[in-house]
Amino acid sequence: EIEPSANIGVVGLAVMGSNLARNLASREGNTVAVYNRTTAKTDALLEAHPEAGFVHTATVQEFADSLQKPRTAIIMVKAGRPTDAVIDELCEVFEAGDVIVDGGNSLFTDTIRREKAVRETGINFVGCGISGGEEGALKGPSLMPGGSVEGYKTLGPILSTIAAVAEGEPCVTHVGTDGAGHFVKMVHNGIEYADMQLIGEAYDLIRQGTGASPAQIADIFGKWNDGELNSYLIEITAEVLRQTDAETGKALVDVIVDQAGAKGTGAWTVQTALDLGIPVSGIAEAVFARSLSSKPKQRAVTGDLPGPSASAVDDAEAFIEDVRLALFASKIVAYSQGFDLIVQGAEEYDWDIKKGDIAAIWRGGCIIRAQFLNRITDAYADEPDLVALLSAPYFREALTAAQDGWRRVVVAAAQSGIPAPAFSSSLAYYDGLRAERLPAALVQGQRDFFGAHTYKRTDKEGTFHTLWSGDR
Ligand code: NAP
Repeated sequence: EIEPSANIGVVGLAVMGSNLARNLASREGNTVAVYNRTTAKTDALLEAHPEAGFVHTATVQEFADSLQKPRTAIIMVKAGRPTDAVIDELCEVFEAGDVIVDGGNSLFTDTIRREKAVRETGINFVGCGISGGEEGALKGPSLMPGGSVEGYKTLGPILSTIAAVAEGEPCVTHVGTDGAGHFVKMVHNGIEYADMQLIGEAYDLIRQGTGASPAQIADIFGKWNDGELNSYLIEITAEVLRQTDAETGKALVDVIVDQAGAKGTGAWTVQTALDLGIPVSGIAEAVFARSLSSKPKQRAVTGDLPGPSASAVDDAEAFIEDVRLALFASKIVAYSQGFDLIVQGAEEYDWDIKKGDIAAIWRGGCIIRAQFLNRITDAYADEPDLVALLSAPYFREALTAAQDGWRRVVVAAAQSGIPAPAFSSSLAYYDGLRAERLPAALVQGQRDFFGAHTYKRTDKEGTFHTLWSGDR
């Protein structure tokens, strides 16, 4: 007979699960039961961290028996089938009122399906987005739980103790029902792709435009980090650029193969945005930029296509400032697009998501943490139904200040043949939104011509079709 001594359990003890379990165990009042399919990993964790006081369990039954009721367990296993398998196992040994949390990177539609199935057993299911990588899991991640309000009652206080803290507030909030948490985590990752790509473009333009070395650009990013661009990603970019390769003595960035990998959450963001009809063009360009980079065959046969070679800019200092402005403006566009997607997702799936709270829980622990998120929280606090983040006073002013530099950078990139897809598509999005008339009128004409799709008129109500001349 096992004594139920643990108030929380973790299933899946790879890097994320182990670190999250250690984080939980380090907080006052927690006793953590741990379980992993391969018991050797459980043994190893207990051996490496005796200070954590983990409750070792070798079977799911033992795991369930060691937990106080209502039981709470966080699953940290591979997304997809493994997660389904573990949920099924837990449902066999848990009972109504218990809480199963999936902390993996699950697709939100899987979470919606799982929540529905688990709910029927009376067990609460929470799909919880977790951001911050290994270090965040250990020291304090940003947590995006979705699920029933009832499940959150037991879970919320525990999550609050392990989450990152930003300006005194734990970076966790009940995002909404069923898949809301994983949806918001997905959009977070999409924004992360855009942020990273924009920083990459800034680096490339400065390097090619001014001839600055990676270490010099590290200093530039270091300075930027003291201003409105202050963020984790800018900070680590400076560190990456400063790193020299021990073997060759070169800048490490010059030794790394220029093909970016991806695990799929960026693609999910764009696929979802396409389904919901939300233009997340900056995020999409970032995802496609990674795909383009990792197509060596196509790159090999097109390397000799004509184009200008990058020439040095006249005024390096002014150019660098323009790039900073372009980066900030494009970043605003990426966040604005991401929040548009959250708003549309909430409408489609009936989630009550507080946009300002989402920005607030992204201020600490997660990869996109940035000072700038306070401005987003403020914008939604001032105007909860804000239609476009771009139109909030702070962002409007920032875009007004940035746009001349932004345009000069996009022009310079095109003229020098330096690809800057996220900078230029973000600018095109901005101009698209502010345009008084779009060529969409012509597209409607074309659609009516070949498909009698009809159109609306600017000067009267109704739907119209023209009897186009031409023999069709
Ligand atoms: P992982 O490599 O994604 O998964 C390994 C874990 O899954 C091991 O505990 C493994 O058990 C278990 N597992 C695999 N197939 C299983 C099955 N069929 N039945 C039971 N268990 C199974 O581990 P991770 O990198 O720590 O990530 C865990 C989760 O967190 C993932 O969903 C990941 O996407 C998410 N996440 C990761 C990060 C990150 O920065 N790495 C950040 C946020 C979220 P065995 O030891 O028995 O093989």
